[in-house]
Amino acid sequence: MEFEAVIGLEVHAQLKTKSKIFCSCSTEFGAPPNTHVCPICLGMPGVLPVLNKKVVEYALRMAVATGCRIAQTSRFARKNYFYPDLPKGYQISQYELPIAESGMVEIEANGGFKKIGITRIHMEEDAGKLNHDPHRPMSHVDLNRTGIPLIEIVSEPDIRSPEEAGAYLRKLRAILRYLEICDGNMEEGSFRCDANISLRLKGNEVFGTRTELKNLNSFKHVEKAIQYEIRRQQSILEEGGEVIQETRLWNPDSGKTFSMRGKEEAHDYRYFPDPDLLPLVIDSAWIERVKRELPELPDEKTARFIRQYSLPNQDAERLTSSRELSDFFERCATFFPDAKAICNWITGTLLGLLNAQGKTIENSPVSAENLAGLLKLVSDDVISGKIAKTVFDEMAETGKPAKQIVDEKGLVQVTDTSAIDAAVQKVIEGSPNEVAAYQAGKKKLMGFFVGQVMKETRGKANPGMVNKILQDKLGG
Ligand code: ADP
Ligand code: MG
Ligand code: ZN
Repeated sequence: MEFEAVIGLEVHAQLKTKSKIFCSCSTEFGAPPNTHVCPICLGMPGVLPVLNKKVVEYALRMAVATGCRIAQTSRFARKNYFYPDLPKGYQISQYELPIAESGMVEIEANGGFKKIGITRIHMEEDAGKLNHDPHRPMSHVDLNRTGIPLIEIVSEPDIRSPEEAGAYLRKLRAILRYLEICDGNMEEGSFRCDANISLRLKGNEVFGTRTELKNLNSFKHVEKAIQYEIRRQQSILEEGGEVIQETRLWNPDSGKTFSMRGKEEAHDYRYFPDPDLLPLVIDSAWIERVKRELPELPDEKTARFIRQYSLPNQDAERLTSSRELSDFFERCATFFPDAKAICNWITGTLLGLLNAQGKTIENSPVSAENLAGLLKLVSDDVISGKIAKTVFDEMAETGKPAKQIVDEKGLVQVTDTSAIDAAVQKVIEGSPNEVAAYQAGKKKLMGFFVGQVMKETRGKANPGMVNKILQDKLGG
């Protein structure tokens, strides 16, 4: 039996507003527990919520960026449930009339492109946080997060594999970050994802019973957890069993999912329109302004990089994966014309260094201007590519421009024919056995001679010239 996975994702993105969605409390992360709270977000009786306009503005940006249809009138509803992190006993969310519906994002899949539908985007408030005491049977409630604005982005069940799920999430996150509305940090919980997964026999139209996975708090875990869940469901079905519709939790330590609770249905939540909040009316002038002010988005930027810099698709994708990285590349490109060389140095060397140092491109120890300066020295034949790596490491450590390091350390490439000639002569005289073997036909020894000359010149000889002079002297 061949099964096909059907996956739909629900993403919660925390919006980067200064204040909460219905009160003026700060959204700042990491404050002492219960210091960013007020009667409104604590759910005291008799208070009234007031909608933060910035939240609507941000939700609109995402709706426009993903091609959604925007509702001129949308509404807030109360989603009722009891949990200690929810002081009001209900969460204010949008239900029947969300702000946006029917959008899509495009991902790369199996070497081509694939559209993933977006069912809806709605605004809601976050709940508080429970901190479980590891030593006693006790939990502490921190309500600083209560009322932090979120958008929930619900996908159509268009995703077919863990890899597609990962690609979709990375694309969503990139868009949110380009729009500057969410920092997209999965580990810190500002970008969270629940995955709905079911299997069906290949070729079958109807969907199978799904489970919903929660607690997926890193990109690596999302793909692993989905993979595990697909296998689990597959073995149930192969043995003739039935998948139970339920909510499951991913345990990153055991690498397994386990049942958390039976799946709740919408009617369990007793949704009803929040009588304290007016219907939200968005006029077309507002939508038009958001459209006009939309920045260049990842897909557009990728296409432009391919066009403008003649970069291969993969390189362009890589460079535009974040706005900051693409900005860094473009700044380099204003100082140095060879885009492919810049790209190779950024993706091959600089990103490796940043990764090792736990840094991001915004605080790169090598500036865009200095990286371009280094590449210029290589292309002008002032230093060899090999020395360039040494200079790069020095730049990363000291922050100095390449030129200064090369001058200070005397690393200028030797292109003086007589100097290289002398070094070649010395090597030939010092290795009579190898010379004899080479001349008897062992041409592989060329590498040995080049290495010796480089050693002799402390890596500074121009490799092309070394090769040429060696060939001349040794005879073909
Ligand atoms: P709920 O809010 O109860 O989880 P929704 O109907 O809003 O339910 O669906 C949530 C997500 O589940 C959506 O992303 C949707 O694409 C996905 N989904 C719905 N049915 C299936 C299914 N049979 N298999 C996999 N995903 C599904
Ligand atoms: Mg759900
Ligand atoms: Zn408050």
